[in-house]
Amino acid sequence: MSAEYQVNGSVAVITLNNPPVNGLGLATRTAAVDGIRKALADDSVKAIVITGAGKAFSGGADIKEFNSPKALTEPTLHTLINVAEGSTKPVVAAIHSVCMGGGLELALGCNYRVAMPGAQIALPEVKLGLLPGAGGTQRLPRVLGLEMALNMIVSGTPVMSDKLAGTALFDEVFAADANLIDSAVAFANKVADVRPLPRVRDRSVDYPNHEAFLQFSRNTVKAMAGPFPAPLECVETVAASVTKKFEDGLKFERERFLHLIQTPESKALRHAFFAERVASKVPDVPSDTPTRAIKKAAIIGAGTMGGGIAMNFANAGIPVVLVETKQEALDKGLATIRKNYENTMKKGKLTAEKFEQRVGLITGTLSYDEIADADIVIEAVFEEMSVKESVFRKLDSVMKPGAILASNTSTLDLNKIASFTNRPQDVVGTHFFSPANVMKLLEIVRGEKTGKDVLATTLALSKKLRKTGVVSGVCDGFIGNRMIEQYSRQAGFLLDEGCLPEQVDKAIEKFGFAMGPFRMGDLAGNDIGWAIRKRRYIESPQMTYSKNADLLCEMGRFGQKTGGGWYDYKAGDRKAYPSQEVNDMIVKHSADLGVERRKISDQEIIERLVYSLVNEGARILDEGIAMRASDIDMVYLTGYGFPVFRGGPMFYADQVGLSNVLMAMEKYAKGRHGDAWAPAPLMVKLAAEGKGFNG
Ligand code: NAD
Repeated sequence: MSAEYQVNGSVAVITLNNPPVNGLGLATRTAAVDGIRKALADDSVKAIVITGAGKAFSGGADIKEFNSPKALTEPTLHTLINVAEGSTKPVVAAIHSVCMGGGLELALGCNYRVAMPGAQIALPEVKLGLLPGAGGTQRLPRVLGLEMALNMIVSGTPVMSDKLAGTALFDEVFAADANLIDSAVAFANKVADVRPLPRVRDRSVDYPNHEAFLQFSRNTVKAMAGPFPAPLECVETVAASVTKKFEDGLKFERERFLHLIQTPESKALRHAFFAERVASKVPDVPSDTPTRAIKKAAIIGAGTMGGGIAMNFANAGIPVVLVETKQEALDKGLATIRKNYENTMKKGKLTAEKFEQRVGLITGTLSYDEIADADIVIEAVFEEMSVKESVFRKLDSVMKPGAILASNTSTLDLNKIASFTNRPQDVVGTHFFSPANVMKLLEIVRGEKTGKDVLATTLALSKKLRKTGVVSGVCDGFIGNRMIEQYSRQAGFLLDEGCLPEQVDKAIEKFGFAMGPFRMGDLAGNDIGWAIRKRRYIESPQMTYSKNADLLCEMGRFGQKTGGGWYDYKAGDRKAYPSQEVNDMIVKHSADLGVERRKISDQEIIERLVYSLVNEGARILDEGIAMRASDIDMVYLTGYGFPVFRGGPMFYADQVGLSNVLMAMEKYAKGRHGDAWAPAPLMVKLAAEGKGFNG
């Protein structure tokens, strides 16, 4: 049973009960339809109340049924709404807390709606690249008016029920201290004999000169929707509520919904939605694994990363102590944090009170003794094993038993770091991305000996810090940086063969990346990659790179911070201007290599950059460094600016078809540095089986 049936005097109360948010799955729909039919058959029942148990009226479609035939099994959501709307006894939706998507569409099919204040009302389908497909686009404008309904449907943003009091959406919004069920039953008794039964579908949408408003909406939405088709489709279907008869509007809505569900953009958004949810699940770490309490944190190193990481803790209300070796570095780190918060306050995104609160939660010290009682300590010192070693030996000697010892290393061997302590089970990698107070991604590095409770605690902490935690095994660069290295190598080879930085950046930005590799290098600092390559030249001499990036650094062009990198920059301006000096250097380097520069198509640029990510991603998956392909996609969507509408590199490869990807790779394998294109065995295997990374 996922809806309960009770009779309260002459009112039947049907309570949807499908935790956590009463998703309208098949069992719930069936129980609700049965409930209405039972009430209709019972002569003692004069009216029906539909409500939700626990935290919600209903959050809408059951996400467990997405992409499953169950969603289309009778009674469908349409059938349930039709049964409610066709009832010969009044049906009252009694709404509290969450009423979204299909939940709101069901409420709109009821004769009356009553609500508690503070209920969140939304049709958020657009966020998954869809539109409300069960009458929402036709019924909501009939109760809220064209303009307000259009705003809600195009944005998907929730509006509080109290803000909607006085509209025809609600017949009554009760006082905050009212009992919802008692009040709803009283309301149902009051309207039990009112005939004809009011139905939203019988109302009309009146908007003088609606064409002008709709045209204005089309123009505005088109300009804001980017590559996503759904927002404009939302406008068109809402428009149908004014221009078409109700039944024709419903038909049109259905047709556009079925179109959107097939679009690659919606598929990508739905993939990302599920990928985010599944990323926190680790098969051998069950959800009831005990976690450790995190009430106090410490960070070693108040540099670029340490400061940003500390802000995350303060934002989550957790006190945090920064440790530095010198007072000067500590003062600088604390001043930067203060300045960051001040800037946020100036933008009106932080109140003075919150500013004081957050700054007050961050303190500094030069002594490890002051952090001994912290529940977690995150090391963010220089990326050198010897420095990490001295820090971890020290932490092992001072930290209380049970404290989590985390490292923010981007490339170093976490198992080795753990071996510097006598408690490797307490050591975990927490790889934040820069700027750490902004970027969503947190790669959680699971060492060979990391305890399950430590992993569970770190995953829970990532949620508390509002990060997307993705678990990675130990390897050089973990998931994200290991893949990006292959992408950067290809970007470099493209320069050797005939491209200039702006051509490469433009092509991949047109594909949808937030920033091309060269603009990105200038932003992050080209010296970081230089240091990594210098290490590689010694440790992995077989790995080849274009020398252009080294030549650039030898010229002192580290990027924006030195006023020039792959591009030129003007003081106080982040805009990248093509650099004649750099372009000459690139052309000369090709000549020095004896390479005849050729015209390279945007398609080749995109394929070489994206497929190099995919191929390395496949190895990472095969080696078990990533648990699932969708985790790799999450890393790229939340940490590397991969276009959301393409769903991440592995999902994108699935859409292209792995055999097509392999075919393109074979072609590039015949070119310069062909060895970079040795296909990952997993990809070859999956392609032969006609499968994708995501099944
Ligand atoms: P940074 O040079 O900006 O800061 C390091 C800080 O650590 C300095 O302030 C230094 O004084 C301090 N420090 C050094 N030794 C110390 C010690 N023994 N005790 C206390 N403090 C000490 O470096 P960063 O960019 O913040 O990088 C820190 C770590 O984060 C590195 O492991 C790096 O690989 C990793 N990381 C960096 C980025 C990035 O984009 N900068 C991104 C992800 C991860």
